[in-house]
Amino acid sequence: MFARPLIDSLEFARKGRTLNGEIAVSDLARMVELLASSEGSIRYTVSGMQVDGKSFLLLDLSGICHLRCQRCLDDLTYPVGIASRLQLLEGEDLLQDDESDEIDGIEASRELDVIGLVEEEVILSLPFAPRHDEGVCELATKGSGKADDRFGMLAQLKNKF
Ligand SMILES: [Zn+2]
Repeated sequence: MFARPLIDSLEFARKGRTLNGEIAVSDLARMVELLASSEGSIRYTVSGMQVDGKSFLLLDLSGICHLRCQRCLDDLTYPVGIASRLQLLEGEDLLQDDESDEIDGIEASRELDVIGLVEEEVILSLPFAPRHDEGVCELATKGSGKADDRFGMLAQLKNKF
């Protein structure tokens, strides 16, 4: 096991701290269940900041994970690239957090689980029904491969005459 960093979120924001690291996808148990394989890793940078007395965490996530294409059911390499800003809320502000707000709010915590937060953000960003691009998809490629074979046979037949 690895140590999961815990931060005092409001102090982290007030002091403008930054934390970064890399985590193996295989260590993200909830996320692995949604993936085709547990290969890959996610790099994260979490920065704290305060604006107008409000506290924020900025998340910058990048990496690779493997989804399952909903067309051919084969492995689909999915690049993760997320930049999000979360407002730290506590007490009444948390209750008043408007879901339609442009900025997501999370509960301020003295022991905020950074890895849990990273995992949550990546899960929220995953496409509901991932598919390979046309031409890359195994199913589409197999189809055109057969077509090529037919043309190849036709060409051979022509050569015989
Ligand atoms: Zn596919």
